Amino acid sequence: MQIAIDGPASSGKSTIAKLLAQKLNLLYLDTGAMYRAITLFFIEHKVDLEQPDQVKQALEECQLSYRGQGLERTLLLNGKEIEKKIRSAEVNAQVSAVSAIPEVRHYLVAMQQKIGQEMSVIMDGRDIGTVVLKDADYKFYLTANAHVRALRRYQENQEKGLSNQSLAEIEQTIIDRDYYDSHRTMSPLKKAEDAIEIDTSQYSIEEVLEIILNQVKR
Ligand code: C5P
Repeated sequence: MQIAIDGPASSGKSTIAKLLAQKLNLLYLDTGAMYRAITLFFIEHKVDLEQPDQVKQALEECQLSYRGQGLERTLLLNGKEIEKKIRSAEVNAQVSAVSAIPEVRHYLVAMQQKIGQEMSVIMDGRDIGTVVLKDADYKFYLTANAHVRALRRYQENQEKGLSNQSLAEIEQTIIDRDYYDSHRTMSPLKKAEDAIEIDTSQYSIEEVLEIILNQVKR
């Protein structure tokens, strides 16, 4: 069983995907976290994105792995916890440029497809329905207007103490990131033709979950 969830930044993909994974007993893979981890490594090691050799070398030095099970499962970079660092404003600002690099995409897509072949999964990202899991059993495309998404992210940041960016700054970063992600040459953010689109602006998490579960039961 494979479920693909795509959509723009902060559209609720990961919250929904985590809950679905729990209900349906599937492995949840947050592919955005993988791009963020690579971005963190590139920032920390001052990798020049214009230099393919540096990019290739850096990718060889990045080892992604996981610790824990179910909702406790977290991504590790070279054996270290990075969850908080990869959600920083600096990574947010750089991740679209890093994820547009073909070498980075080849590297991560291969890893994601291997996981998808080995077990039943639900993955969220930008190119899951169009590239990574083209033949997924179910594909969903979650959207919401940029202001609603910024507000949700702002509240989440406050609750988790993740960043003290203002609401306006968050909204602008989201708009910039969506523009960049949907205009890149390789696997831009776009709805797969056979994906079901859900505008979550008006819905609660529970309502979106119910809409998706109804589709999956059918
Ligand atoms: O999902 P999240 O907002 O954490 O993703 C961070 C960034 O990673 C996106 O803005 C995008 O640039 C990149 N990404 C991607 N393809 C994916 C998942 C994320 O290009 N499948």
